Amino acid sequence: MSDKMLKFVNTDKEMPKKRGAGDRVADFDEIYNEFDVASAETQASRCSQCGVPFCQTNCPLHNNIPDWLMLTAEGRMEEAYKLSSQTNNMPEICGRICPQDRLCEGSCVIEKGFESVTIGAVEKHITETAFENGWVQPPKPVAERSESVGIIGAGPAGLAAADMLRQNGYQVTVYDRYDRVGGLLIYGIPGFKLEKHVVQRRHTLLEDGGVTFRLNCDIGTDITFDEIREAHDAVLVATGVYKARDISAPGIGMGGIVPALDYLTASNRKSLGDEVADFDSGLLNAEGRDVVVIGGGDTAMDCVRTAIRQKANSVTCLYRRDRANMPGSQREVANAEEEGVDFRWLSAPQAFLGDNHVRAVQAQKIHLGQPDATGRQVPQIIEDSSHEIPADLVIKALGFDPEDMPAMFGAPELEVSKWGTIGVDWRTMMTNLPGVFAAGDIVRGASLVVWGVRDGRDAAESIHSYIMAQSDAPRAAAAGA
Ligand code: FAD
Ligand code: SF4
Ligand code: SF4
Repeated sequence: MSDKMLKFVNTDKEMPKKRGAGDRVADFDEIYNEFDVASAETQASRCSQCGVPFCQTNCPLHNNIPDWLMLTAEGRMEEAYKLSSQTNNMPEICGRICPQDRLCEGSCVIEKGFESVTIGAVEKHITETAFENGWVQPPKPVAERSESVGIIGAGPAGLAAADMLRQNGYQVTVYDRYDRVGGLLIYGIPGFKLEKHVVQRRHTLLEDGGVTFRLNCDIGTDITFDEIREAHDAVLVATGVYKARDISAPGIGMGGIVPALDYLTASNRKSLGDEVADFDSGLLNAEGRDVVVIGGGDTAMDCVRTAIRQKANSVTCLYRRDRANMPGSQREVANAEEEGVDFRWLSAPQAFLGDNHVRAVQAQKIHLGQPDATGRQVPQIIEDSSHEIPADLVIKALGFDPEDMPAMFGAPELEVSKWGTIGVDWRTMMTNLPGVFAAGDIVRGASLVVWGVRDGRDAAESIHSYIMAQSDAPRAAAAGA
């Protein structure tokens, strides 16, 4: 092992410097600065090069983390990039927004008493260095193939599959109903976690590599699903989950109560320079408002922090469980607290008060009771705990379900699970329709970017095997005849 490693004993864990809260709330830029070369090398050198690297096991892509950490510590950056990009189609994006505390870094088994190796930020540093040096190139097939694949959805799952299939020489067309490429990377996740040029850079690379994008194209409306199936040798459905879960409480239908994704999309579009009527009219703009966000996941955290940046008068987050039981990343909660968000744990909305427009949320306090069958403690309302929180903008961030995919695609024969996600054979990612594969959130339910990438890669491999088998079949039949 290189003598540059094992430095965790006398070197503390460090993240890249975070901009101060007062500075960062003034814009939508990312809050973490880049590592400089020396810091990246020093942090990478803390890795103890475990024989059984749990960091790698618990990265959904099984990234070869110990090896690229060692190469980084030794300053061998081009080799580090080559290795890291073998298993990840967007390492600079995962390095920025994976919840590392729950994945790679959370599983780092550096000796007790020492904090984990900083993996995500090093992964980002490796890829940004590669971009600066021109090492990141568009997908370049060794030989072109005549077969084509249609991908519905330009989010991380669709893009990862497009990259892999194009590298294999397929003619790839990606269809998306949005006007930009990236799915939730572009219109869901705010710029302070992931700046938009980072996503657009990947779009450009794929286009330069020969991937065709057909944007503003809603499959099921502009083109039928059957037409897509007829046009391609295989189809991948990577449409994500977009049906917002709702709250059932008196007053929920009044003005000023909006779904999280409408709110975040409007903000992201403004940052991208678009005209957004509902933002300019004030409907989806938190400036000067008392904002209450309901929910405790990543989407809720993105909403509260967006509202702060839009100069809301006050921003309150209501969540019915406690901090330890919230689904959002703890790192993001800490960031939100630093930026001035008021968290009301163990609180749930009882009613929305106002005439035509909301003026307050009536909330109740919650006690966590016995665990249910899933092992999670059941929230129970505390009697006589009603109180009012002033609110003239309420954002509902309670998660997402799949749309009715068989209806959307006019394909009643497409099998879905009881949750509405598309059913696949997990060994192949193929649906019950021959030649139709599915990947990402539409298969898993709302998940993570890194799982979308993983599914996209797996689906691409299966699509390749499927097309190979299809083209071998006539030859095998002829040989047998
Ligand atoms: P998507 O990214 O949703 O992309 C699906 C694409 O399909 C979209 O572009 C959509 O327009 C298109 N589409 C849908 N239907 C059609 C149709 N009929 N015709 C044509 N196109 C269609 N994950 C993390 O790892 N870290 C985070 O910090 C994080 N933060 C998040 C914050 C928010 C606000 C949200 C909502 C999610 C967040 N996630 C995060 C989750 C992550 O964004 C998703 O898991 C991931 O984007 C799923 O990828 P996907 O490719 O399956 O779907
Ligand atoms: Fe960690 Fe995500 Fe990178 Fe895997 S892809 S090493 S989980 S940051
Ligand atoms: Fe290095 Fe931690 Fe992975 Fe071990 S678990 S190889 S110390 S990063």
